[in-house]
Amino acid sequence: MNFCLMNNYLSIFDEILVSMRRESIYNRYEPSVKPVSYGEDESYWFIFKSDSMLINPESKLKIPFHIDLDEINLVPLRKNYMGILDDHPVYVVEVDPETEPLDGMEFLDLRETYDILDEDVYLLAGRAVQIMNWDKNHMFCGKCGTKTISMEDENAKICPECGFTSFTRISPAVITAIIKDDKILMAKHSYGLRNRYALIAGFLEAGETLEEAVKREVMEEVGLKVKDLKYFGSQPWPFPNSLMIGFTAKYAGGEIKVDGKEIVDAKWFDASEVLRFPSKISIASELVDWFLETYS
Ligand SMILES: [Zn+2]
Repeated sequence: MNFCLMNNYLSIFDEILVSMRRESIYNRYEPSVKPVSYGEDESYWFIFKSDSMLINPESKLKIPFHIDLDEINLVPLRKNYMGILDDHPVYVVEVDPETEPLDGMEFLDLRETYDILDEDVYLLAGRAVQIMNWDKNHMFCGKCGTKTISMEDENAKICPECGFTSFTRISPAVITAIIKDDKILMAKHSYGLRNRYALIAGFLEAGETLEEAVKREVMEEVGLKVKDLKYFGSQPWPFPNSLMIGFTAKYAGGEIKVDGKEIVDAKWFDASEVLRFPSKISIASELVDWFLETYS
């Protein structure tokens, strides 16, 4: 796994207040792939140029609503239907990087929109940007290079030449709270986390179960064995297309040994030494809260 990449993701975790871990993350959105009988004119629009999203402060949900793309000279590079939001169709559109924002609106980095957007809309923006990027990155068959065709009934693209099918890509990653004698293991990474200690995390490799990934990551990063793994929860993470899967585990053996490059230190902390994360709502902070509630 690419640890640098993982570490960057984790620093983003720290920096953004984002809540995505819940049994059903949406309250006002119903996913569907096939547009129903609505026209586009009564739609909500997620309009991106790269990772920046068009925000309309005047709209109820702060995203453009009820616009005609032609009328306002927005030329979509791609457009995908996403389902129903508040009884209206919702689309994601990518526009040219040179596109200027419409009057009274602005393009904001998706990471800066959490405080502005309704939570459902923020979560949906994460889904939107992933669908948009998937659409862009799978225009051609990865096997034979032929232009792909979007399937009608699901988010999938099929190659008309060889039949190869591509689905939206998700890269799962595990994050683990390891407990020994009422203490939790936290590690300091060599960069990106501003000297903060964090939980052990990393991407899955091909052919692994989640549990195997937890055990491998813990062994690679701090040289310890773990046991009694318990699933804690999961959290979609759209920067760019990950899913974090949280576990708790118990120490099973070994001495802490770090590589000194990616991880510079790792220690056991008791509840009095652990600070709650400034962000209350990432899965990392929920695992830390769980530790503090259980072992204080
Ligand atoms: Zn093909």
